[in-house]
Amino acid sequence: MIIKKTCLLALSACCLVLPSLSFAQPSPKGPIVVQGAMPIEAEHFAQRLDNPKEQQIGGWRFWSGTVDGYPVVVSETLKGMSNAAAATAIAATQFHPVAIINQGTAGGHDPALNVYDIVLGKYSVNLGAFKTPHKLKGEGSDSLQWKPMDLLASKGSAGEDKTPHTIRKFPGDAQLLAVADSVKSTYTRGKVVDGVIGSADLWNSELDRISHFHTTYQTSAEEMETASAAQTAAAFAIPFVGIRVLSNNITNDGKYDPQTGLACQDYVYQVVKAYVAKLDADKK
Ligand code: SAH
Repeated sequence: MIIKKTCLLALSACCLVLPSLSFAQPSPKGPIVVQGAMPIEAEHFAQRLDNPKEQQIGGWRFWSGTVDGYPVVVSETLKGMSNAAAATAIAATQFHPVAIINQGTAGGHDPALNVYDIVLGKYSVNLGAFKTPHKLKGEGSDSLQWKPMDLLASKGSAGEDKTPHTIRKFPGDAQLLAVADSVKSTYTRGKVVDGVIGSADLWNSELDRISHFHTTYQTSAEEMETASAAQTAAAFAIPFVGIRVLSNNITNDGKYDPQTGLACQDYVYQVVKAYVAKLDADKK
C-alpha cells in the first residue's frame, strides 16, 4: 500500500514535470567557433565578445559569449597539428558548432602576397604527410622528391597504397567563403585573396622547398593548424573555413610582424557578423 502510494506520487510528479520538459526552450542554436593558436591570435577576438565566459577544458581555453546576440566560442587551439585536431574535436563534441573558422598568422609561399595580406582558404593541404623514395645509405635526402601521402585514402597501409599519390584537399565551406568574400572591402591593411593553405608541424625557410610547394600544390601560405582542424571538422560534418593573414613572407623579404594576428581577428570579426546576419536572414 505504502509502495503503491509512493508510485502514485512519483507518477503524478512526472506528469507535472513532463509537459514542461516537452515544451522546453526552442532547440539551442549552435555557436560559431573561432579558433586561434596563440594568445595573440585568440585573446583579441575573445575581448570583442559580449559577456565572455572563460572555460578551461584539458589544456585548452575557450571563451563563450555573443556577437550581435548570436553565440560565438573563441578557442585557443595552441600551436601545431595535434593541438588543432584535439581542440577542434573538443569544440565539436562540447559546443556542437554551426561553423568553425580557423584563423591566425601564416608564412607566405606566394611572392605576390605581402605581410598583412589575407588568404581565404578555398582548401587546405597537409604539408607533413609524404612518403620518401627509397635511397641507399649515403644517398642523402631530397625532400623535393617526396610524394604526398593521403592518410584518408584507405584504411590499409598508406605507404603501400598503389593508387596515385595525390595530396588530400580539405575544402573550405562555400557559404563561409562567400560570406568572408562579401566583407573583403572592410579590410584596409592589405589584399584579401582566395588561396590554398598548407599546414604541418614545420617552419619552412628553404626557398626551393617553398617554391616547390607553391608550384606543385598551389600553396599561398603555410602555417601549423588549418588542415588538421579542417580534417577534424569534416569528420564531424561541421562547415569550416581557414582564414590566414601573412605575418611573414621570406619569398619577398616580408619580415615577421606578430601584430598581423590582431588585424586578422578584426577581419574575422566582420566575417562573423556577416555570417550571423546571414543565419538570421535564413531563419526568416
Ligand atoms: N615567431 C613565432 C612563431 C610561433 S610558431 C615564435 O617564434 O614564437 C608558429 C605559429 O605561427 C603557428 O601557430 C603557425 O600556425 C604560425 N605561423 C606563422 N608563420 C609561419 C610560418 N612561416 N611557418 C609555419 N607556421 C607559421
